[in-house]
Amino acid sequence: MKDSVPARKRILVIGGGFFGMYLAEQLARQGCAVRLVEKDPAMMSRASYANQARVHNGYHYPRSVLTALRSRLSFPRFVEEFRECIDSGFEKYYCIAAPLGKVSAKQFLKFCERIGAPCTPAPHGIRALCNPALIEECFSVQEYAFDAVKLRDLMAARIAAAQVHCSTETSAERVTPKGDGVMVELLHAASGEHETVYADHVFNCTYSRINFLPARCGLDLVPLKHEMTEMCLVDVPDPFKRVGVTVMCGPFFSVMPFPPVGLHSFSHVRYTPHYEWRDGDRPGFFDAEDRFRGDLRHSAWRYMQKDAARYFPVLSECEYRDSLWEVKTVLPRSESDDSRPILFLPHYGLKGFHCVMGGKIDNVYDVLESIDAHNLLS
Ligand SMILES: Cc1cc2nc3c(=O)[nH]c(=O)nc-3n(C[C@H](O)[C@H](O)[C@H](O)COP(=O)(O)OP(=O)(O)OC[C@H]3O[C@@H](n4cnc5c(N)ncnc54)[C@H](O)[C@@H]3O)c2cc1C
Repeated sequence: MKDSVPARKRILVIGGGFFGMYLAEQLARQGCAVRLVEKDPAMMSRASYANQARVHNGYHYPRSVLTALRSRLSFPRFVEEFRECIDSGFEKYYCIAAPLGKVSAKQFLKFCERIGAPCTPAPHGIRALCNPALIEECFSVQEYAFDAVKLRDLMAARIAAAQVHCSTETSAERVTPKGDGVMVELLHAASGEHETVYADHVFNCTYSRINFLPARCGLDLVPLKHEMTEMCLVDVPDPFKRVGVTVMCGPFFSVMPFPPVGLHSFSHVRYTPHYEWRDGDRPGFFDAEDRFRGDLRHSAWRYMQKDAARYFPVLSECEYRDSLWEVKTVLPRSESDDSRPILFLPHYGLKGFHCVMGGKIDNVYDVLESIDAHNLLS
């Protein structure tokens, strides 16, 4: 008698950002039949592109040691796995602001020691550029940037090799229970046709739109905070060309190489978020997509630059080129300590419907661990 071969799990991944692509590839490699749908014409064109491109190595999180330690674990793994997408050829400095800083230089150094992150006094060149009345200390650190376009191309090749069936311009519109799995209604934007597919497991990797399907299907909204953000792209003066700087922590701004376009990204804690809203606070659901498409955009670049130039006067010579606008979504609990845990909600209101969100790119490894820990695919 022949052994019966267990049926391949059918998986639908919704959202072709980095999280959806990575998950789709990993699940296909585990033997699942995976389909990935993305509503836009291109993969990784939303938050996975429009962000500061920082490969976190812990420094950013002096108020959340857990996030810092998780970053320290995932940093070498991410850098190794995506070596060809990493820009490590610049000097990165963390500068501690005084007198308004929430963290002193001594505390920052101690924190780096605690998480085992390299941190040494910065060389004279960068110190000479900062305003000593407002910067207590500058440290050289090990932090890199990723190239989102190279990452997208690499992931596209990897999911093709793993035989993931991909459809762009295809949005998931509704989920309903069916037996042990989920029926998903898809809408193909080009033809206007609807398609209904069955999956044993559906992974909702839609980041700022995590609540779109729950809202449509009468499920509870996941409590989330959204910010409409502006990341400026600027041409920096010569001394900053191969330099990235983060000034923390109170005033908090970062100027970092943004590899896909050969400019620097510029974010500022006060001016990058333009406004915010929350899901789950009140009845009704505000679709982040409507805000993203319909928003009137007035750049806050002048304010960012003016404030940053108080700390590094040479930044007044930056030339503004463009802005990346994106909805940033965080868990409300991250507000107090600026932590970046993943959101992982297995069987969210429906058996087989799982909501997944990573607060930063390298958190994908935590998502894989959670899937294993919940034994989801056995
Ligand atoms: C301003 C800003 C700065 C940041 N800086 C950093 C940083 O420096 N380093 C870092 O590691 N992280 C950073 N992040 C966080 C990082 O960008 C996110 O953690 C990550 O991109 C999330 O990836 P994702 O795949 O979940 O989301 P996305 O890349 O947004 O992908 C979600 C996809 O789902 C699609 N979608 C939505 N609804 C549907 C639907 N119904 N059907 C089909 N498709 C759908 C969307 O079109 C989108 O392509 C930053 C984020 C922002 C906004």
